[in-house]
Formats: sequence, C-alpha cells, structure tokens
Amino acid sequence: MRIGIIGGGQLGMMMAQSAIELGHEIYSLDPSDNCSITKYSKKHYCCNFDDVVCMEELFNNVDVVTYEFENIDYDTLKEFEKSYKIYPSSDALYYSQNRYVEKSFVKSLNINTVSFKKVSNRNELNEFAKNKKCVLKTLSGGYDGKGQVLIEYIINDDAYLLVDNCECIVEEYFDFDYETSLIVTRSHDLEIVFFPMSVNSHNNGILFKSQASSKFNKLIENKAHEYAKKIVESINLQGTLAIEFFVKGDEIVFNEMAPRPHNSGHYTIEGCNVSQFTNHILAVSENKLIKPVLLYESAMINIIGDEINKDFTKYEGVFHDYYKSEVKKGRKMAHITFIDNDAKSLEHKIEKYLEG
Ligand code: ADP
Ligand code: MG
Repeated sequence: MRIGIIGGGQLGMMMAQSAIELGHEIYSLDPSDNCSITKYSKKHYCCNFDDVVCMEELFNNVDVVTYEFENIDYDTLKEFEKSYKIYPSSDALYYSQNRYVEKSFVKSLNINTVSFKKVSNRNELNEFAKNKKCVLKTLSGGYDGKGQVLIEYIINDDAYLLVDNCECIVEEYFDFDYETSLIVTRSHDLEIVFFPMSVNSHNNGILFKSQASSKFNKLIENKAHEYAKKIVESINLQGTLAIEFFVKGDEIVFNEMAPRPHNSGHYTIEGCNVSQFTNHILAVSENKLIKPVLLYESAMINIIGDEINKDFTKYEGVFHDYYKSEVKKGRKMAHITFIDNDAKSLEHKIEKYLEG
C-alpha cells in the first residue's frame, strides 16, 4: 500500500520504519527537505502544511494518509476527507487542537479532569486563579510545556502577558503522585487494543523518561481503559490515540490526548510484542491489530539537544537516532530504551546511563 505521512519528524519516521517492514511505501510531506522521515520516503513533498496544492498531490499519489502531529488545519483536512482516506479522521484531530474544547468534551463523557476555565482577559484570570495554584496554558499550539505559566497563589507578570496576548485555559494545579499515559489503537473493524501504561517524568516540561512495568496499578489501568474506550468510541477513532493522565492515590484524572503515536510509547518497540507504530500502521492500512503484551520491564529516555554527543555504544540500551540535521537546545534528537526481565537490573542499567 502507498501510505502518505504528513509531518516528517521522529514520529513520522518511526511510523515509516514500521510501514516499510510491513511492506508499504511511504510518501511524506514536510516543510523541511532533510527531516527525519526522508531517509524512508519513496517520495518527499517538501512544502508547508498549509500548501493545499502540494497536499492534494500527496493525496492523489497514495492509498491512505495519516499524520504525526495535530496542528494540521482542521478545515483543510475535513475538505480532503470528502474525497480521500485519512486516518485518524479529522473528528479525532478536532478535539486535540484546542485544550478547552478537548477538556470540555472529555468532561461531557463523565471522565475526571482537573477543574478548568477558558480565560481571555486579566479579569477572567483573576476570578479563577486568585489565591490558587494553577497552570495557565495557550488554547492551541503548545507542546513540551511551551506556552504555559505556573501560577502559585499570586498571578505573575508572565501569566498576565500570556492572557493579554491569546486566549487561554487556566487549570487548577493537580498535585499528582505520578503521570501516566495510555496508548490505544482502534482498527477499521473497530477492535480496540491497549498498550501497557507507562509512568512518565518530565524535565523542564519535556518528557525525560517513560517506564512500563508489569507491576503497574491494575485499578488505575482499568479506569484508564474505561475512559479511553469512551473517548475512542465517541470520536470514532481509527488509528492510534495517546492519552496522558495524572494519578493521585486511586484517583486518575485526564490531562490531554493526541490522535497519533506518542513519545511515551516509544518503549513499545523493544518492550512489547508489537510497537505503537506497527499497530498504528495496521489500523491505517485497514488490517487486524496485534494485541500488545509487555515482554520486559522497560524504560525509554529521551536524548535532548547536545546530549546526542554522548557515546551510546557504552550502555546496555537500544539507541534510536532521529537523524536531525541540526542540534538545537531542547530538541529531541534521539532516544534510548532499556529492557530487562528484572526491575532491579533495569534500574541498574538506567543508573549507569544517567551517571554518564
Ligand atoms: P504539553 O505536553 O502539550 O506541553 P501538558 O498539558 O501535558 O502540555 O503539560 C505539560 C506538563 O506540565 C504535564 O505533563 C505536567 O507535568 C504539567 N502540568 C500540566 N498541567 C498541569 C496541572 N493542571 N497540574 C499539574 N501539573 C500540570
Ligand atoms: Mg503533555
């Protein structure tokens, strides 16, 4: 099958790797001519994501299109959807493009979220956030903690500056024990499969480590599955959805979602019998999915900016280079995955890596 992938970063690249293994051909579209995916593309359309003429060329040359990121123009995709196959559908994309629309939708499904409010000026922000610990976020476009300001009881200038310049959502700060995510795939014949959940930690807003273990709390997992099922059925997902949650004790709270494979699911390449990318491609190509099973205690660590200059052959992990043309501060350059049958030995491998 000829599969079109919009977006040529590491997620697109790893989708392409899986697709090629499954015997498909990749046609990619990205404004950069030397992005991660081009190594794997039969043809690369080098154009902006709003170049409708170029996009139409891609659609005309492939059997189905998927995408690696959620900031494609919704109306454009909706228009293409009338004539071409796109998975996940624009409906799935719609909710994840706007944090307020997303949280309101999820709340309407009776899924727990933090309390939140849309704010477009200082007064509205004052009303909600005064004397509270909160997080102010731009409605759209934010990622890796960008476009967010923490408010600790007193509203600071950065928060005012943000709300002066764009519409925002303000959320109550949730004092979680840990963050977790669930990757779920739904097939063309509507079968739903769940990947083992990972526990995620962040540094400066960027995912640092995702770890999956057979010891993961079953109560939390069951609740997350129930929530995910409601969401994927409501948006009629075909493909992959990643959902981030906060957990405190036995309470699980929805944070955000993305209709695509996710950084916290990279561990599945080595840690499971099937990766998030392979199941995504199976869904997109209208094939049956593989039920994920955790084979090993697993941990993935992101390699950010000039950490890429380390000698990765020294460690007992599997290194995945994203072939980025330039090293930039805060840029995800690669990742490394450690697996082991034994949780303690896995910790030892991680420690050795972090010690340098
Ligand atoms: P993005 O990943 O798109 O940058 P998130 O909403 O996931 O945005 O926020 C990034 C990180 O900031 C989260 O993973 C979490 O660590 C922290 N965070 C975000 N919202 C809250 C909240 N309401 N309470 C506590 N921590 C939060
Ligand atoms: Mg997030």
